Amino acid sequence: MCGNALYFENSVCLSCGTGLGYSRDEADIVPVDGYGRYVDAAGLIWHVCRNLNLSGCTWLARFPGGQCSACDLTRVRPNDADAKGLSQFPVAERAKRWLLVDLDRLGFPVVGKGEDATYGLCFDLLSSVAENVTIGHADGVITMDLAESDDAYRVRVQEQLGEPYRTMLGHFRHEVGHYMEWRLVEGTDRIAEARRLFGDETADYQAEIDRHYSQGPPANWWERYISTYATMHPYEDFAETWAHFLHMTDTVETAHIYGLARTGGIQDSPSFRAFVTDTWIPLSTALNMVNRSMGKADLYPFVIPDPVLDKLDFIASLRPGS
Ligand SMILES: [Zn+2]
Ligand SMILES: [Zn+2]
Repeated sequence: MCGNALYFENSVCLSCGTGLGYSRDEADIVPVDGYGRYVDAAGLIWHVCRNLNLSGCTWLARFPGGQCSACDLTRVRPNDADAKGLSQFPVAERAKRWLLVDLDRLGFPVVGKGEDATYGLCFDLLSSVAENVTIGHADGVITMDLAESDDAYRVRVQEQLGEPYRTMLGHFRHEVGHYMEWRLVEGTDRIAEARRLFGDETADYQAEIDRHYSQGPPANWWERYISTYATMHPYEDFAETWAHFLHMTDTVETAHIYGLARTGGIQDSPSFRAFVTDTWIPLSTALNMVNRSMGKADLYPFVIPDPVLDKLDFIASLRPGS
């Protein structure tokens, strides 16, 4: 490798032509030889994932001709006859891999349904060419509508719903929040604290959604919630806040790598509250202004009220070993 800045999603160094792969174990982009192989520090041989051409997967697989641990988590993909779905599939896979790096970096273990059929995680990345798809999470299965990879479609939905932010990565971060609440909060001794912060999650889900769509968000919702979507139900408040936890930690990490933030991770801050107020808010304000300088919408079009800091603190405290 030539030392040129390596981007996470490149399979080849654009400067010197060396083949690249992502080693999840080493959390690094590494060079692969002419046969698509990489030998790690322990002497194990890794291979370019077989889905490189199908989904643009840049991760390394344990066996030749095999697929990587990220691809293992995809349970359903568009069928081979669905050209449109297949063209949208790589966008979702890229967001999914990004999400997995977020979780790895923060220390949240990810167990697939292949290992734990009941409590493991998997993804159904569904084409909505021939059927309606509803984005959601249930019992460890995250369902994604591949139409969301189409910018024109997604922006239209965003405008219909009046949302300030809508991305494929944001969907993955939100939905895995539902999974994490199910695994790390429900049925544990943390549930009482979660109810105090987010409300009673046993509230009738459909009734609350119906209320939201007939009456809209409560008055002065911005004093207690990160978004109007978060006001719908305690589950949605948790998932929305969780998504922001990942937005913040990942964006600060990236900014730090490029010299734009003084600290990199939450481990450098005395608390998550301090991380948000001392690092995230100055950084996101600056990045909003950078975007405005390019005539673009704000990078982070949200305001964080004090009660949301408490919710974020709770979510950060769910990290193993924190
Ligand atoms: Zn893969
Ligand atoms: Zn949700």
